[in-house]
Amino acid sequence: MNRDVKIEKVYTPEQKERRRLAVNRYYQRHKDDPTYKEAARRRALRKYRRIRKDPKATRRILDNTKNWAKRRKLAIIAAYGGKCTCCGEKEEVFLTIEHVGGGGKKHREECGNSTRVYIDILKRGCPKDKYTVLCMNCNFATRFNKPCPHKTRNL
Ligand SMILES: [Zn+2]
Ligand SMILES: [Zn+2]
Repeated sequence: MNRDVKIEKVYTPEQKERRRLAVNRYYQRHKDDPTYKEAARRRALRKYRRIRKDPKATRRILDNTKNWAKRRKLAIIAAYGGKCTCCGEKEEVFLTIEHVGGGGKKHREECGNSTRVYIDILKRGCPKDKYTVLCMNCNFATRFNKPCPHKTRNL
């Protein structure tokens, strides 16, 4: 038997979610326990050192983070109908999440960064009155509260 061969375990989304919840519960119970805190700190440090030495691991982690960001964005876009609410553009790369009536900067400041803004929107259940999805063109055209040419131009 070749001991070097690692079998990649494949978990179903339900298993992953259960695991995530269990880890979270454990964290909530122990987060104020100094022994746990110290152990967590050491674990994080070990992981950090290992990653620093291994460019492949760094790349993997960066990719994963990117995927999370992408998945969040896609989830929000899907919740708002999967296309630009003005012109119907469907290409995800062109789509951005818009704050209805402005307030994007304030929201970003409150949340810390744009990743947390996305997390916050998802947490709020993607309220249709507060946010919407626009493509870059429509987003650009409606800066400073101007109406989009799609709306004013007679076709
Ligand atoms: Zn558009
Ligand atoms: Zn438009």
